[in-house]
Amino acid sequence: MSGQKISGVKGMNDILPPQIETWQRIEAVARSLFARYGFSEIRTPIVEHTELFVRSVGEVTDIVGKEMYTFTDKGDRSITMRPEGTAPAARAYIEHGIANTEPLTRWFYMGPMFRYERMKTGRYRSFTQLGAEAYGAMDPAQDVEVIALCAAFFKEIGVPDVVLKLNSLGDGSTRPAYLAKLKEFFAPVIGGASEDAKRAFEQNTMRLLDSKEEVLQDAISKAPAIIDFIDEGSKAHFATVCRLLEKIGVLYELDRRLVRGLDYYTRTTFEFVYQPKGDNALGTAGTVCGGGRYDRLVKELGGPEKPAVGFAMGMDRLVLLLESVKGVQRSAPTLFIGTFDGPERDEAIALVMALRNEGFNVDFDPRGGKLGKQKERASKVNAAWFAGYGATEAAERKLKIDNMRLPEGAPKETVEISLDGLRAWLNDAGKRSS
Ligand code: ATP
Ligand code: MG
Repeated sequence: MSGQKISGVKGMNDILPPQIETWQRIEAVARSLFARYGFSEIRTPIVEHTELFVRSVGEVTDIVGKEMYTFTDKGDRSITMRPEGTAPAARAYIEHGIANTEPLTRWFYMGPMFRYERMKTGRYRSFTQLGAEAYGAMDPAQDVEVIALCAAFFKEIGVPDVVLKLNSLGDGSTRPAYLAKLKEFFAPVIGGASEDAKRAFEQNTMRLLDSKEEVLQDAISKAPAIIDFIDEGSKAHFATVCRLLEKIGVLYELDRRLVRGLDYYTRTTFEFVYQPKGDNALGTAGTVCGGGRYDRLVKELGGPEKPAVGFAMGMDRLVLLLESVKGVQRSAPTLFIGTFDGPERDEAIALVMALRNEGFNVDFDPRGGKLGKQKERASKVNAAWFAGYGATEAAERKLKIDNMRLPEGAPKETVEISLDGLRAWLNDAGKRSS
């Protein structure tokens, strides 16, 4: 049947103007800052073999257990729309033998991820992550570089009240002892929890620490902390990470119970969490970035023994945050040129196009019509200045330009600028009005 409206898929958002400008600003800062830190962009496909995520993220995680968009393609392969970017990056790193040609690799990516989640503010089924991956360095300096990059990024885009939480999970060698303790600890309370939690308890007890289930919260806050169980090497590594962060002036809080929602982490783990004093625009979705070290991931995916550190940020959450503190900012024309019916209209249109091609932000109303209506349009797009261009202006070769951004009640302000002097005036006006 034709004529019936079709809506977008639940949990998947369109990003339209003017909000797109906030996205573009964040993306531009990321591209410039990540390049200065020595990270190069990669782009991998939206889909991968399902097996990649099952093996890397882990079977008993929310992502693999219930959130993946998985389908069978026409060649009978099980395909999954990527729920995260670390496994695809590692897959590409291995597949292209990057380790053979460079001992140290620093990559970043930006793009949509897909998870079948329960939606709320800051939690969607299609969302965008900005992530970085550094392969090849075991030294704590690599952990610190990656964390410092995040901190610099939040600072540069102007997101306030973001707190860095830090923990260490050890290298895995002491994990069996810790898991035994943890199982013993949760045994008396797990009976009252959900089937999911019981499964996690049996198969991957650490996942419980990440659970949001009400009945477990008290136990989680008292559970044994992995950092008390980690090996000497990891302890020394973590001490250096903390020392270096202090040296470069990145503030952090130790969070002894921080474990991430994916299975591949070892040693350093961290999160950046939005914690404002007043209202929280993100509600319970306050974690804007999660990351850490995953020294065994590349090997486990069939690659060489290469340590790695990385993170992923939730761009949708950053956009929400920026809008809550700065409002929606949209770029606006410096000058709006009004046209009149008649032979001069062609000239006016040619002037608009020429100015645009020379780099000025100049607008007009292609529908023409009454000058008053065109001026309303200029006001709607927040143009800084407005001038009509008709027979008089063409003959006298000058424009009468009205200030459109006067405070309420202020007297009218009009400047007369010759067409010859227009470029110089626009240069100056553009700087003042942007
Ligand atoms: P959470 O505990 O909030 O579910 P997570 O541990 O699943 O987060 P990661 O897989 O580490 O998150 O992803 C890194 C970041 O990506 C998160 O900190 C968050 O900012 C963002 N993110 C994750 N899932 C979503 C989603 N469904 N919608 C929007 N952003 C998301
Ligand atoms: Mg999640």
